[in-house]
Amino acid sequence: MNENTTFSEKLRETVDVIDEAYERYGVFGFSFNGGKDCTVLLHLLSIGLYRYAVRHPELISPEEDLPRIPTVYIMNAYPFPEIDEYIRQAKDLYDLDLISIAEPMKDALKAFLDQRTDMKAISVGVRSTDPYSEHLQPFTPTDKGWPDFMRILPILNWDYNDVWTFLLRLNVPYCSLYEQGYTSLGGTNNTIKNPALKIETDSDEEKYEPAYKLKDGSLERMGRIRKSSSPNPIR
Ligand code: ATP
Repeated sequence: MNENTTFSEKLRETVDVIDEAYERYGVFGFSFNGGKDCTVLLHLLSIGLYRYAVRHPELISPEEDLPRIPTVYIMNAYPFPEIDEYIRQAKDLYDLDLISIAEPMKDALKAFLDQRTDMKAISVGVRSTDPYSEHLQPFTPTDKGWPDFMRILPILNWDYNDVWTFLLRLNVPYCSLYEQGYTSLGGTNNTIKNPALKIETDSDEEKYEPAYKLKDGSLERMGRIRKSSSPNPIR
């Protein structure tokens, strides 16, 4: 993949990774925190599951209820109500088999795997520009010291603008905080609206453009107020 790869080529590769993941693992897990990247992934996994059912009617009938996607939300200690609300909506819309766990990430993943001992892989909405993610491959086992599973990473090569192109063109529902000027979501203790989206006005009222108006994706994390508040990736 080089930097001239078009969005439709990236999308094709993503669909191929998801198809391959279903072929390798059958139904696998999904880690979801209501952020924009895993929202893209959720939409594509749902389509991928349907495609898998069509390819394998002997395993899953596409005419009947599809299996539900086993999903884990590792709860933030300082949650935004808008994120919780969006997660509830997405659970209903995509009929997720969702468990929410209020524990540190490693413990939460272990608890998720303990509930589903047949599950050998979990899909994560990481992109290569995220911290520690530069050299990841679409199928990457977890690091030593982490619960043992295959990470499925179908949107590694997407950039910030690709994410918004997809969500807007397909009219995919996303968390309302992105409309308010947040561009990357953590907790209420460490996330602010992105200063690069601030609209200069004469009034005292602060106004921000929505996340999809940010042209320079490298500024995406300007709304994270401490270095330690950058996402703690699943490794
Ligand atoms: P944004 O950057 O806008 O917040 P995002 O949350 O989808 O979007 P990251 O914060 O970069 O993206 O996180 C990468 C991925 O890691 C998520 O897409 C999700 O799959 C997984 N992840 C991160 N935090 C959690 C969490 N608390 N619970 C479950 N999965 C998580």
